[in-house]
Amino acid sequence: MANLLRRARGSAPQGRIAGACAVGAVAAAVGVAGFLPVALGGCAGALIDSLAGAGVQALRWCPHCERACEIDPHVCGTPTVLRRGFAWLGNDAVNALATLTGALVAGILWTALPMMR
Ligand SMILES: [Zn+2]
Repeated sequence: MANLLRRARGSAPQGRIAGACAVGAVAAAVGVAGFLPVALGGCAGALIDSLAGAGVQALRWCPHCERACEIDPHVCGTPTVLRRGFAWLGNDAVNALATLTGALVAGILWTALPMMR
């Protein structure tokens, strides 16, 4: 898990998970109960973004620029080579998956835990 999160730094802003979780912890600490489902949903979304970004998101390589990238062709116009992940799972799809996960978790918590309202 820690290794996956370390590898995720290339696809997700560093500290994103910690920041989202810190917001959740602060919300819980100060008793902003109505905010807690949203904060935890954000935390879940950030976690999915990091895990999918490090594990299954397409990572490509531009042989001309000799650098990793996420698109095909690269901005230089050279076709890129898939290095890992699924070719059909780009950064936009991972972001959509993370957003949907966060919304789903927040919605479930909001609905299932009446004491949070
Ligand atoms: Zn290039």
